Amino acid sequence: MPQWYEEGLSFSCTQCGNCCTGPAGYVWFSDDEADAIAKHLGIDRSTFLRRYTHRIDNRRSLNEHQTEHGLDCVFLSRTEDGKAQCGIYPVRPTQCRTWPFWPENLKKPENWRRAANTCPGIDHGRFYPIEEIRIIRDSNPA
Ligand code: SF4
Repeated sequence: MPQWYEEGLSFSCTQCGNCCTGPAGYVWFSDDEADAIAKHLGIDRSTFLRRYTHRIDNRRSLNEHQTEHGLDCVFLSRTEDGKAQCGIYPVRPTQCRTWPFWPENLKKPENWRRAANTCPGIDHGRFYPIEEIRIIRDSNPA
């Protein structure tokens, strides 16, 4: 069945940081991603889990901390000119890597528009054809 985004969508991150802050949220990661992040940080997996994550039911999520912007991801920092920077960008979890092409955002045009209310990168910049969107969408573990 054709998707409403059959003609493709545009997105380029402006580094505003909105998706890495705000109300309490979850950033899930796989065991392989935990290993990659730990290696990137130069620590072992158990230290990474203890220092930067917390348990929610039977899963773990990255920690957040309160800032003037809201609850920031523990790995989010900002440059002097206000640009968001991810401290684990090359090894960030798939959940972060696949934004904004999450199944829930793609379900209906209204959901995409709602996501665009907080993400100024949506509908701007780089064009993603449907084939690429499908690959990104289906790689999301959520
Ligand atoms: S909300 Fe959108 S534009 Fe802002 S940092 Fe996140 S992905 Fe980039």
